[in-house]
Amino acid sequence: MSLSQQQDRQHCFHPFSNYHQLNRDGARVIVKGEGIYVYDEQGNKILDAMAGLWCVNLGYSAKPLIEAAQKQFNTLPYYNLFFQTTHSPAAKLAAKLAEITPAKLNHVFFTGSGSECNDTVLRTVRHYWACLGQPQKQIVISRDNAYHGSTMAGASLGGMKPMHAQGGLPIPGIVHIPQPYHFGEGQGVDVEMFGQQRAQLLEQKILELGVENVAAFIAEPIQGAGGVIIPPDSYWPEIQRICDHYGILLIVDEVICGFGRTGEWFASQTYAITPDLMCLAKGITSGYLPLGAVMVSDRIAQVLQEHDDEFTHGFTYSGHPVACAVALATIEEMEKNHLVEKVRNDIAPYLAQKWLALAEHPLVGEARIKGMMAAIELVENKATLKRYNKTKAAGTLCRNICVSNGLIMRAVGDTMIIAPPLIISKAEVDELIQLAWQCLDQTYAQLTS
Ligand code: PLP
Repeated sequence: MSLSQQQDRQHCFHPFSNYHQLNRDGARVIVKGEGIYVYDEQGNKILDAMAGLWCVNLGYSAKPLIEAAQKQFNTLPYYNLFFQTTHSPAAKLAAKLAEITPAKLNHVFFTGSGSECNDTVLRTVRHYWACLGQPQKQIVISRDNAYHGSTMAGASLGGMKPMHAQGGLPIPGIVHIPQPYHFGEGQGVDVEMFGQQRAQLLEQKILELGVENVAAFIAEPIQGAGGVIIPPDSYWPEIQRICDHYGILLIVDEVICGFGRTGEWFASQTYAITPDLMCLAKGITSGYLPLGAVMVSDRIAQVLQEHDDEFTHGFTYSGHPVACAVALATIEEMEKNHLVEKVRNDIAPYLAQKWLALAEHPLVGEARIKGMMAAIELVENKATLKRYNKTKAAGTLCRNICVSNGLIMRAVGDTMIIAPPLIISKAEVDELIQLAWQCLDQTYAQLTS
């Protein structure tokens, strides 16, 4: 074991990691990143089809971002926004975010992460209704299998049962409805009908709980960590109609979907959603520094700002000047290179054409893609779409085979997912797809031997 592996093994706790595997093999030590590739200690070059954790949209060696950080470090390496203070990187970024996000989201609450964004929206909507004299309007409706972060509020808003099992979650006032996962839960039902039925479960839940008790609904436009669950086209219009009809605030978590991933700046634009609050993180700095931002609508901001009491909420790193400078450089770089248009018109359609062909592989029951996020479902029987027995751990096997072939794909159960850097070239897409075929072949061979 290398020194890094020894130190890691003795002292590092790892998020979402299997300790049997860690103790047996040691951690993979990543030493360098360049473009869409990372390199490990042994010198292996690995194509990162997950852009880190869905965040390194501009790849690992974007000089303008590094230079922006260096410049900001030299002038003001830290200050905060507490007690009526501001600084130019935060003010400028807030103005820029107001410009590029949907029309009525003109106010920003900065955080240090996506999880902190979701803690912030929970407190914001509850405080908002209390300010309006409706303190009983506390309940936030979310969805099964959602991931909204790892803090107590984030994990509670999330709908991951194993997370709830650890630590007595969800916290009170958060309930979940099923997700629009057609492959997993809607086979045999017309896809658009299924989308509508799943959206209408929100209406049923609001009526069951009493509209006077429901503060908001929260969802990702496309559920990412849950397995790239792309909703049927009928889903979001119905959700929007229900939120509007009952006056329920709509929170859109764009921590993954934001910043070009679906071929628009924000997936709310892709799906014509009009949110009251929007959570941003990850791609906001291309993952180079931790930063989150909650976009707040004029209507909510006005109520909070006119209220006599302070909103007693904030983080030491809310609006960190270096992170804000890197976010500004990220957006500038995307604008300068017309990256969102390139994704929409060029690279995402190219990736889609190649990715969807994976459905022909004997191990694949479905391939789906929206913009630059995609999934394939591994099945034992292509005709019946029956999954492998859980003991086979087909997804984990495939993921491990991918890594040993120099490709990072993520496994969510037996769903394999990708979200590559947005700057990926067509030649690199070809390489990704060729590796994916090769790894599927090897996985299939092992599963059927
Ligand atoms: N929301 C979504 C949709 C996410 O995918 C994530 C992280 O993957 C989070 C929130 C939490 O973000 P962070 O890990 O920055 O706290």
